[in-house]
Amino acid sequence: MFSAALPVATSALAVFETQASEQTHSLVALHQVAALRCRLGQLDVAGVMLEKVRETLVHLAELAGLHRNLPPPGLARVWTDVHITMAEVCKLRGRPTEAEALVREVLELSVPQEGHLLQRSVARVSFELARMQRCRGDLVGAEQLYRQLFLPGSPLENKNSANHGNTAFNLSQVLQARGLLTESRKYLVKALQAYRNRFGTANEKYLKVARARTNLETRLRTCAKCGPVADKDLLMKVCSVCSAARYCGAACQKLHWNAHRPDCRRIKEENDDIAAVAGNDDGAGPSNA
Ligand SMILES: [Zn+2]
Ligand SMILES: [Zn+2]
Repeated sequence: MFSAALPVATSALAVFETQASEQTHSLVALHQVAALRCRLGQLDVAGVMLEKVRETLVHLAELAGLHRNLPPPGLARVWTDVHITMAEVCKLRGRPTEAEALVREVLELSVPQEGHLLQRSVARVSFELARMQRCRGDLVGAEQLYRQLFLPGSPLENKNSANHGNTAFNLSQVLQARGLLTESRKYLVKALQAYRNRFGTANEKYLKVARARTNLETRLRTCAKCGPVADKDLLMKVCSVCSAARYCGAACQKLHWNAHRPDCRRIKEENDDIAAVAGNDDGAGPSNA
């Protein structure tokens, strides 16, 4: 009996596999069309298409015995893409808060899931959310998310990938906006290494980061009290409380303390919040700067 049933089962499996793969391709293709429509500003059409793809994904999740809001097996990538594009449509419709809430919800649903592919999706959603937080000025929230992407076990561990470079560069920009220049330089160096190894030194991305580094070096040699420091050999002093304010010496630091105090307290509190959530990847990074 088995010998007769087996070929039938095998051919049925082949048919189902083909169907599943066609379904995946059509979902991917549908999403790509929706994303293009979104980029062309055809938001209504894009919205309808995305809703259709999402309904199919919900249906497939239920068929697989999963919660309807979770990605169906093997479809984490398109599931993530669909939600990110839905958020984009939302944002373009002038509802950034709703867009951010959608991405945050997707991130919260994704995190408990396992598997490398889904981990990569989590990274992409985190990256997207961090971008939104940064846009509305939440530098602390953005920094927390970027830092989480550098923790051990993250899919960004490949230090020569474009994603590693992109995240490192974005984190360095957030750190720079917060005034944490030494820390910012650390991630600029990571971004430079990733882009150099991935694209080479003639690449526009590499050159952009190299220019950012030149600008940063100038800021690193600027005293918060008296301005640019001419002496190239002088070792700058950094405020030990907030790690942000930089001085040419103890005299300037003392004179500047009253002006710096409110910022110092705020930055210190922000640093503590970030450390509590995002941990610290010191020592995990490349040592050859
Ligand atoms: Zn000074
Ligand atoms: Zn300080």
